[in-house]
Amino acid sequence: MEDLPLVLSHAYINGQWVAADNGATLPVINPANGVLITEVPDMGASEAQAAVVAADKALQGWRKTTAKHRANLLKAWFGLIVEHADELAKLLTTEQGKPYKEAYGEVMYGASFIEWFAEEAKRTYGDHIPAAMPGNRYLTIKQPVGVVTAITPWNFPVAMITRKVGPALAAGCTVVVKPGEDTPLCALAMAKLAEQAGIPAGVINVVTTARPAEVGEVLCTHPLVRKVSFTGSTPVGKHILRQAADTVKKVSMELGGNAPFIVFEDADLDKAVQGALVSKYRNAGQTCVCTNRLYIHDAVYDQFMARYIEAVAALKLGDGLADGTEIGPLINARAVAKVDTLVTEAISQGANLVLGGQIADVGEQFYQPTILSDVTEQMNIAHQELFGPVTTVFRFNDEEDVILRANDTPYGLAAYFYSRDNSRIWRVSEALEYGIIGINEGIISTEVAPFGGVKESGCGREGSKYGIEDYLEIKYLCLGVD
Ligand code: NAD
Repeated sequence: MEDLPLVLSHAYINGQWVAADNGATLPVINPANGVLITEVPDMGASEAQAAVVAADKALQGWRKTTAKHRANLLKAWFGLIVEHADELAKLLTTEQGKPYKEAYGEVMYGASFIEWFAEEAKRTYGDHIPAAMPGNRYLTIKQPVGVVTAITPWNFPVAMITRKVGPALAAGCTVVVKPGEDTPLCALAMAKLAEQAGIPAGVINVVTTARPAEVGEVLCTHPLVRKVSFTGSTPVGKHILRQAADTVKKVSMELGGNAPFIVFEDADLDKAVQGALVSKYRNAGQTCVCTNRLYIHDAVYDQFMARYIEAVAALKLGDGLADGTEIGPLINARAVAKVDTLVTEAISQGANLVLGGQIADVGEQFYQPTILSDVTEQMNIAHQELFGPVTTVFRFNDEEDVILRANDTPYGLAAYFYSRDNSRIWRVSEALEYGIIGINEGIISTEVAPFGGVKESGCGREGSKYGIEDYLEIKYLCLGVD
């Protein structure tokens, strides 16, 4: 494709660009217009095994390289991603749908993990521990876990890969990446740039497939795989946890969310409207940390809603590559049907349709920015990850009550609240059972801070100084000294 030079149609195993053993392919479709972009290999169990064996073979050399050497290769990769940011962003928008500006932001955010972990590679220190016995010396050293499986979703097809591959490579691990079946092209483009950066054959492998269960079973049960890092839905995460249990693999799980966004009566309403808007409608509402339930205090309900409705009504839908687009398509027809069903069902259960509520006329996979008020916790829509451009609005008038309601979910990824009362800020931050809290802020992701959830939203943290620890084992050395 002339205007998308990074479109690749082969998977990447052991430093080779390869087709599926049986030649099968998986079409990659632009969600904005239904046009076929290209086809990639539809691989199965045997190719997944080959990728694991390649990663294990490469591990033997890679784990012995110095941290400085790995850091330099990661920095070279980072440089190439930044150099190709515009092409990558266009590719991302074309296969995933998000507006170009957001796609560009994701590429830079994704690149930031490579840069950050290039730096962290050099700081994986062990300890010297004061001995408990005379004549002994105690030390700890940190070593790479080994071969890592990275299974990633379609909603952030660049950043969810770099958030895993960056720390894994920095630590001295090798990786088999299995990208989401709707968005394999960004993964392949990133692997191409890694190859150009000089990252050796087998250190990164990318297996594309339309059969995630078959490939996933190999990647999550193979004895040579020592860690599984998964980002995706909670049901698939639970399935992978069970599979990884038999060989007691290390696991990191970045799973689904059901984020509450609470606007207290002392909030700065203009900031709260802006925060809710970006938190809810970024990526057409298809983010794990996006607002799922908006709680507004009675005292400011009418004021907030008037401004919020006006802002949401002004959002511009369209092809992500067109100027001014703020909301792109949903990822596929299933996603559109799910959102539409949840909205229709909530209305039939008594929710009030304030705005939108239908498939938009710009294309089959576009859903109108929607607001539902008078939503109650009894409705199905309050319990599910919406994953669409739909705000559900609840009212409250008591701090303790809203905290109970906000916590009343098996999920615990991100929560947000707006308040200008310092005591309340501490109280509410400590009471919310979530891994990430946005306080007077609707955008919380950065490479320098830990990202991850509690409860059924997962285990482990990505990014920050903690993110590399999941890819390292601590070894204790006990020395007897004369
Ligand atoms: P998904 O669980 O359907 O798929 C995620 C990945 O798992 C894909 O690569 C898919 O092919 C693969 N997969 C599916 N079945 C599998 C199986 N049986 N074995 C192995 N792999 C399998 O999720 P999705 O629809 O791609 O992504 C959306 C979900 O991801 C949402 O729940 C969202 O909240 C979550 N998410 C979480 C985070 C986070 O950091 N916590 C970030 C982004 C997305």
